[in-house]
Amino acid sequence: MRFLAILIVFFPLAMAFPRLGLHEGYTRLVFDLEKGVQYQISQTPDTLTLRFTGTRPAASDTDVGSPQVASYQVVPTPQGANVFVRLRPSVEVKTFLLEDGSRRRLVVDVLTGSRAPTSPSTAQPRPSPPKPRAQPKVVVLDPGHGGVDPGAVGFVVEKEVTLDLAFRVRRLLEREGVEVVLTRDRDIHLSPDKATDLGLRAEIANSKRNLFVSIHVNSASTPAQGIEVYYFGNTLDPALLAQVIRENGGGEVGRRLTQEAQSVSQRIMSDLIAQSNLMFSRQLAHYVQASLLRATGAVDRGVRQAPFYVLRNARIPAILVEVGFANHPTEGRRLQTEAYRQALAEGLARGILRFLNNGE
Ligand SMILES: [Zn+2]
Repeated sequence: MRFLAILIVFFPLAMAFPRLGLHEGYTRLVFDLEKGVQYQISQTPDTLTLRFTGTRPAASDTDVGSPQVASYQVVPTPQGANVFVRLRPSVEVKTFLLEDGSRRRLVVDVLTGSRAPTSPSTAQPRPSPPKPRAQPKVVVLDPGHGGVDPGAVGFVVEKEVTLDLAFRVRRLLEREGVEVVLTRDRDIHLSPDKATDLGLRAEIANSKRNLFVSIHVNSASTPAQGIEVYYFGNTLDPALLAQVIRENGGGEVGRRLTQEAQSVSQRIMSDLIAQSNLMFSRQLAHYVQASLLRATGAVDRGVRQAPFYVLRNARIPAILVEVGFANHPTEGRRLQTEAYRQALAEGLARGILRFLNNGE
C-alpha cells in the first residue's frame, strides 16, 4: 500500500506571526513572544481566539486548508493584536509555552481527534482551554453529472449510477455519525454551463467540511475495466487527458476547463499549503482505492493525478473516483446490479471513514 507515512512542511518565514507547521494529524501555530508580551486564549467550537498585548504584528488573513485549521486572521488592536484561528469540526486544541532564557514561544497545536504529538520536554503545561463540543465530521459527496448531462452511457447511465451510489454511501456514513452533504440529490444539473456547474459543486466543498469525493463512471473506446481514484494534479498521459476533458464537459468546453485546471496545478507547485492539502488528498485516494478493491475485487487501475476542474481549488482533501466502465460488457452489467453498487458504496464509505479516523 502506498500512502504517505508522514508529512512535515515547515516554513519559518522571518518574523511570521504565527509560524505555521503542518504535520500528519495536527497543525502547529508558533507565536514568538518578545519580552513583556502577554496573551489570553479563549475558544468556541469553531474559533480559537488569542489576544496579545505588547506586540504589533502586521494584519494578515491566511488560508491554511489543513484538516484541522481552515484559516487564521491577525487583526491589530490599539494594545496589540487579536488572532482568530478558524477550526475545523471535531478538533482538539493544546497550548503550551516554551521558555529558554529570554526566548518565549507560545505553541498552539490543533489536533484531529485525540492524537497528540509529544510535547518537548521543556514544555510547561498550561491549563488547556475548554474542549470544543464534539461536532460531527462533514463529508461532501458529489454525484457526477445530472440533468442535461448524462455523463457516460453504456450498460448504465453515469448520472443515475453516481446518484444511487451517493445515496448508498450517505446511508453508510450517517450510520457512523458522519454528516453528509450532497451536491445534488435529484436528477438535476447545477447549471447548464459546465464551468459554472463544476464550480458550484466545488464551492460546496468549503473549509467547514472535512473532505470531498466526486463520484463518476468511466467509459472507453477500447475495452477497459476497473477502478481508479484521482487527486488533483497534472498529467502528460494523452489517453488520460482525453478522459479528463470528457469529465470536464467534453469538446471545446472540456478542453478549455482542462487548460484552466492545468494552470492551477502549475500555481499549486509553489503553494506549500495547497501542496500539503494535495498530500492529504493523495492519502485519502489510497485509502479509498484500497477499500474499493477489497470490497469489489475489481481491476486496480491505480491512484493517479489529473487536472479535474471540480478538484482544482479544493482547500480540503478532495478526490474523484471512477468506479468502473459503463460500456465494458462485464463491468457495465455489474454496475446495473444492486449488489455490486452496494459493494462499491461500502468500499467508498470504509475508505472515507478510515481517513476520518486517521488511518485506523
Ligand atoms: Zn463523469
